Amino acid sequence: MITTNPFEDRDGDKLREECGIFGVLGARDAAAMTALGLHALQHRGQEAVGITSFDGQEFFSRRGIGHVAQNFSSGQAIAELPGMMAAGHVRYSTTGGSGLRNVQPLFADLAAGGFAIAHNGNISNAMFLKRDLVQKGAIFQSTSDTEVIIHLVATSRYPTLLDRFVDALRLVEGAYSLICMTPEGMIACRDPLGIRPLVMGKLGDAVVFASESVALDVVGADMVREVEPGELVQVALDGSIQTHRPFGDTPQRPCIFEHVYFSRPDSILGGRSVYEVRKAIGTQLALENPADADLVIPVPDSGVPAALGYAQQSGIPFELGIIRSHYVGRTFIQPSDGARNADVKRKHNANRALVAGKRIVLIDDSIVRGTTSLKIVQMMREAGAREVHFRVASPPTEHSCFYGVDTPERSKLLAARMDIAAMAEFIQADSLAFVSIDGLYRAVGEVQRNSTCPQYCDACFTGDYPTRLTDLGDRAPGCSPVKLKAKPAKVA
Ligand code: SF4
Repeated sequence: MITTNPFEDRDGDKLREECGIFGVLGARDAAAMTALGLHALQHRGQEAVGITSFDGQEFFSRRGIGHVAQNFSSGQAIAELPGMMAAGHVRYSTTGGSGLRNVQPLFADLAAGGFAIAHNGNISNAMFLKRDLVQKGAIFQSTSDTEVIIHLVATSRYPTLLDRFVDALRLVEGAYSLICMTPEGMIACRDPLGIRPLVMGKLGDAVVFASESVALDVVGADMVREVEPGELVQVALDGSIQTHRPFGDTPQRPCIFEHVYFSRPDSILGGRSVYEVRKAIGTQLALENPADADLVIPVPDSGVPAALGYAQQSGIPFELGIIRSHYVGRTFIQPSDGARNADVKRKHNANRALVAGKRIVLIDDSIVRGTTSLKIVQMMREAGAREVHFRVASPPTEHSCFYGVDTPERSKLLAARMDIAAMAEFIQADSLAFVSIDGLYRAVGEVQRNSTCPQYCDACFTGDYPTRLTDLGDRAPGCSPVKLKAKPAKVA
């Protein structure tokens, strides 16, 4: 795992978005534009990157382990990818593990011609489908769930590539935003629930697709709209566009955690500024869970907008009580005794002069395992904070995600193991509170969560998975762990 992510992988104690995808058709420098777009999506995956291009005759691919800049900043790398159509992928391994053979876009020569595919999401019946395909003679080149789609397209009996593709997707469960390339052009689509995001833009005559609108901004493209849940957008080589809705109208369930943490704050998601939504979550948090304190301090960087919202609503001053190093590299060998929490301090250090003697409210976007929250609370206390109140800009993360987000197994999630009082004790906070699920829905513009037909996927908070989970026996994964209760006495 690469640990140089400036968008914070705090000791593996964050949920991680697994992939970002980008595609362009009709640009003379399609591969260079794709590299730039992927660079803007680097926060969605730092383990590996790949780009495939098409020059009207042939497909070209280049894939590498590491960041976009490590693999695609040289003129030579881009020169290996000629053509006016290109698609790329940044990845942190979802299913299938790491290794170059799993780096996307995946490519296959089918009877109808070349087929390249870049996937953000996770197919929750991939193992089931793969078993069947292998029994019928399919030979898999990777261990990625995405390759299942290629084999389903290859073995479909429909005559046209588009029909084969739709036929394949009908068999697939789970979350997928896809950008595919064929000799006829590009196809971009989202699963019927629209769990993972995908937007469409224009740059002159070129059509651009990306996981987030920030990638359109960076390449200079104008946002046209989101690809709708269940929609396939087909762009021919001459630039003409056709849209298809093979799944009919289904209720949407986009991932609400994109608003909380995954997407960049300068992206527009569901027509809303991610930054503004995060501030609104902070406002809700302050309304629901006030604290008597001197300062509101964000856990950088993802806690910053919610902390601003909390501070504005509560009237408590916002201050930067934790300073993040911008030069965090790979994990160092820990010096022995006396360097307790050296790794977390290397990334974040207390602004001692500010926090000493103060009662502080710390704002973070989520608590996953809780180990980093504990270290940060300890850091604040060591810097002299008199009281540390922890407020979280999402409901307790009690369940694993099976839709393309790297989550620890359920038994490792602090909120699945403990009630809130016990969690507060574990992280050694004077108080701990989370925004409610309805508060989160209000922040994204809803009145409240519709419990019979939720407007978003919120399964990591509620356990209400919007699709079958065939590979897990179609049950909510992991038996419910018995929750520990806090001991009556508070840890000082
Ligand atoms: S389970 Fe959570 S992280 Fe996964 S798609 Fe649903 S809301 Fe997003």
